[in-house]
Amino acid sequence: MARLTFVGGVHPHDGKELSKAKRIKDYVPTGDMVYPLSQHIGAPAESIVSKGDRVLVGQLIAKAGGFVSAPVYSAVSGTVKAIEPRRVVTGEEKMSIVIENDGLFEEIEYPQIPDYDSLSREDKIKIIADAGIIGMGGAGFPTAVKLQPKEPDKIDYIIINCAECEPYLTSDYRKMLEEPEKLIGGLKVSLSLFDNARGILAVEDNKPDCIELLKKLTKDEDKITVKALKTKYPQGSERHLIYATTGRAINSKMLPADAGCIVNNVDTVIAIYNAVIEGRPLLYRIVTVTGDAISDPCNFRVRIGTNYAELVDAAGGFKKTPEKIISGGPMMGFAMFDLNVPITKASSALLCLTKDEVSKNEPTPCINCGRCVEACPGRVVPKLLAELADRHDEENFVKLNGLECCECGCCSYACPAKRPLTQSIKSMRKVALSHKKK
Ligand code: SF4
Ligand code: SF4
Repeated sequence: MARLTFVGGVHPHDGKELSKAKRIKDYVPTGDMVYPLSQHIGAPAESIVSKGDRVLVGQLIAKAGGFVSAPVYSAVSGTVKAIEPRRVVTGEEKMSIVIENDGLFEEIEYPQIPDYDSLSREDKIKIIADAGIIGMGGAGFPTAVKLQPKEPDKIDYIIINCAECEPYLTSDYRKMLEEPEKLIGGLKVSLSLFDNARGILAVEDNKPDCIELLKKLTKDEDKITVKALKTKYPQGSERHLIYATTGRAINSKMLPADAGCIVNNVDTVIAIYNAVIEGRPLLYRIVTVTGDAISDPCNFRVRIGTNYAELVDAAGGFKKTPEKIISGGPMMGFAMFDLNVPITKASSALLCLTKDEVSKNEPTPCINCGRCVEACPGRVVPKLLAELADRHDEENFVKLNGLECCECGCCSYACPAKRPLTQSIKSMRKVALSHKKK
């Protein structure tokens, strides 16, 4: 049977063998915990604690700052040490609540879980909003807002992104194998919000064990299908996932809901299960710590707020000096210059590589080979867009569909002249999008 896919894309070295066979380990943090008030798209959360306050695990420390926002909870017990700007993975400073971790992990008494069958659609959405859940595939959009499209009756697919197409990352893979019931349970909760929707668990075919397991567990679920996708980067990008699974195309002016779809990633759906079925707010992330510089690559269940440097030590430290450290995967992650930053709701991986292939690349003139065009899943002409971006020609950049780029990095990866195409296009998109918003 033909495997589902999209046009364009690349096949980078996947590096998943380093960590995929290891079970998720719980990491118990020892140092201070840092909670940026802005871990999501939208208004920052508003602190409701003060310096000197004692807090417990599961305690609300910052409430949502508006409709498009998300609350923040402490994942440790301890004392609020400061509320001040702290550096985050992107290198920016963000207002944060700093908690001195007392190592006791004393937990609040969670309110009684309401009987699931008695919950209305509005109740479930409120629980998801109150739990602080955001899109944990990287976008960081508050999940409760995503689950309230203008026309809920027109949603006919809820697609769970189980592709995990970024090289080296294996946290979704491990969760599918270790917590499949929660994944399916979270999807069923999501489906209960939409009368006409069917669920799709979309998995790349390099994870046959997950496909088999999920098919077995959903064989009696009329509304859920497991679909195998061709292994190709960026299969997990929202647009390409929708196209591959439903044949529907969306562009930069549309939301997935405009094509009748809602897309969530594995961690987000498990967080929905934890909130609605188990009554727990979002406190943890599964983080892959990997790369050839790490002694013992693995996946950790990490309390949000934990310092990245602690995770390196927990993975046995560096066996070789890393030349490059990335938060996330090699294609779309952020290069990190300081490990002293917190794991947030949007963190997925820490990748430590002994060779920084990219910065060693000396770009040479374009040879007009067309490989960037062939690789581009956004169906634009990366070479031209990068030239326009380098000339700051925003008008023609927008005319030539520069906003349709999903910043996947395939063009740079494919370019034999090692031109930093994505970097140029990304910078121009940022400017053009900010002008569009105004
Ligand atoms: S132009 Fe954008 S969408 Fe196309 S390959 Fe480059 S980064 Fe990806
Ligand atoms: S892949 Fe590189 S060398 Fe080839 S056309 Fe594109 S920019 Fe030019």
